[in-house]
Amino acid sequence: MDCAKANELMIDFVEGSLDAGLHEEVASHVDGCSACMGELEKVSSTSRILQALAHETVRAPDDLDIEISRTLRRTPKWYFLRRYGVPAGIFAAVIAIVLLAIAFGMAVFG
Ligand SMILES: [Zn+2]
Repeated sequence: MDCAKANELMIDFVEGSLDAGLHEEVASHVDGCSACMGELEKVSSTSRILQALAHETVRAPDDLDIEISRTLRRTPKWYFLRRYGVPAGIFAAVIAIVLLAIAFGMAVFG
């Protein structure tokens, strides 16, 4: 077996999914080849990390939904105006102009 073939079979070798004959061939090549031994160490440490990650389950906290609605209730309304493109200053100015116009209208025509 040459290095190219050994490298091609490296992942299956590490996962133990080669048949006994091929497994033996890869093992004996790696034993006598420092380049492939180095490659084997890299592949097996990567495989160990991936297996560890595969068993790790990330769970959202049980109270995540409660925490989100609590945060939404605490967030000021102007935040949403600004978030959706209406700056609070302009919003306040528009309200002020409308109120002044109503007051002016009442003063002149009222
Ligand atoms: Zn080799």
